[in-house]
Amino acid sequence: MIGSGIVKGMAQTAKNFAGTYIAPRKYLVTVEYPEERLPAKENARNFPFLVFDGDDPEAGLRCVACRICEKECPPQCIYIEKDKEKKPDYVGKMQFQPSVFDIDISVCMSCQICVEVCPFDAIRMDTEFELSNPDRFGGLLLDKRRLAKSNEYCAEIHPEETEQTEARRAEDVRKAVAKKQARQQAASSD
Ligand code: SF4
Ligand code: SF4
Repeated sequence: MIGSGIVKGMAQTAKNFAGTYIAPRKYLVTVEYPEERLPAKENARNFPFLVFDGDDPEAGLRCVACRICEKECPPQCIYIEKDKEKKPDYVGKMQFQPSVFDIDISVCMSCQICVEVCPFDAIRMDTEFELSNPDRFGGLLLDKRRLAKSNEYCAEIHPEETEQTEARRAEDVRKAVAKKQARQQAASSD
């Protein structure tokens, strides 16, 4: 029948319209941004940040300035300078740290390669997206102070990934302690 498609379409529209009042969770698929926000998905990603452990964003930085991410970043938007001397990290272990760690997020293409190549779980992708800024240098060139975010924050936005990372790190620590104890036992029995 001519016009039946239009009638069906109108009926569907009316059903959806009424449904937004009767069962909003099922029918309302949009939110009133910016008043309302949907939580970011676990695998959402925008720009990288540096993870720190403990309370001190400076001493707790996991980054050891190995510069692998800097070399692998396709658009070369990471710039790192290594400290001249090692410093104690948050557990007192002597580590090199970056004296300078900048990411130009106006160039970053959110590829996540820096995260994948980092052997120290020191860099992760953020989900924050409201970063527009008219000041290119002050606003979009992020230094290590602005890049540093706690491991707790990381766990909030990437819970599964952080759980796996923490389990792996705990296992690495366990192996290192066992190895050290074995070495000490061998030395004392000589
Ligand atoms: S973020 Fe990771 S890969 Fe990049 S310099 Fe630091 S430790 Fe090395
Ligand atoms: S996400 Fe990609 S482009 Fe951005 S800093 Fe990391 S490696 Fe570079």
